[in-house]
Amino acid sequence: MSLLIVGSVALDSVETPFDKIDDALGGSATYISLAASYFSAPIDLVGVVGSDFPKEYIEMLEKRNIDLEGLQIIEGEKTFRWGGKYHYDLNVRDTLFTELNVFQNFNPIIPENFKKSRYVCLGNIGPDLQLRVLDQVSNPQFVVCDTMNLWINIMKQDLLKLLTRVNVFILNDSEARLLTEEPNLIKAANLIREMGPEILIIKKGEHGALLFINDTIFSAPAYPMEMIFDPTGAGDSFAGGFTGYLHQTRDLSIENMKRAVIYGSTLASFCVEKFSTKGIEDLSYLQIQDRFREFIKISSFNESN
Ligand code: AMP
Repeated sequence: MSLLIVGSVALDSVETPFDKIDDALGGSATYISLAASYFSAPIDLVGVVGSDFPKEYIEMLEKRNIDLEGLQIIEGEKTFRWGGKYHYDLNVRDTLFTELNVFQNFNPIIPENFKKSRYVCLGNIGPDLQLRVLDQVSNPQFVVCDTMNLWINIMKQDLLKLLTRVNVFILNDSEARLLTEEPNLIKAANLIREMGPEILIIKKGEHGALLFINDTIFSAPAYPMEMIFDPTGAGDSFAGGFTGYLHQTRDLSIENMKRAVIYGSTLASFCVEKFSTKGIEDLSYLQIQDRFREFIKISSFNESN
């Protein structure tokens, strides 16, 4: 059974203190699918682009065994575009523009043979669209959901409805505070889990991530990197690595969930090493395993001397 991934497929214009790039491949579903493709195959991507979407991006995604039957290509219309600028502190990002284009009238249609998917990852798009996707999946067993501050601000009611139907909710620390109006992350996490999701992951950028499951809190480090070129898509790559690994192993135990968080962090660390999706387009099994082990090394210590 394949892994269903829904979200944006975008052309991003990104400026960092080091470089600038226009109309590069981006979008939540793109990053999630690429990251997950190292663990599961095939990946079923559902999204929408315009007829201006470059063929070479389609070919690259297909080469990674991502099934694009659910990618609508709207003739004569333009692909969703997003522009962002990073500050000297790469944790700080301004959105320069968001051009909805094909997203304005997007109705996600899940192809018949994707509807039986048991594992679903709802990448960042409007919660109304994420709900419409869930309505079409016949018996989802494990639903992972990501969001962003925009939807908390303008579509909170839809988001709250969605949260009663997801197993894992992933968001970053500032979004957790925005959603709950609670500055303390542990208290915020408790409040969010009362909204529905039994498992919660709060990402803290270059400071790692917190996993909340049952009574367990797992604190995952971020990989210490000397050079971060482009943080765009790190959160989505995390979600893709996390969900892809769980889909591959079919083991939803707490210990495996912790490993999945580290695989998510591993894919996020590769993502930020290059611009756009370049860092996660062509990784080897060995590279991923080596970095996974580095994570163990940087976070383990002896109880006594
Ligand atoms: P991240 O850096 O993980 O937060 O995700 C960045 C990606 O999110 C970019 O590739 C954008 O194209 C995409 N994105 C930005 N704003 C939106 C939005 N309003 N809806 C869907 N995707 C978006």
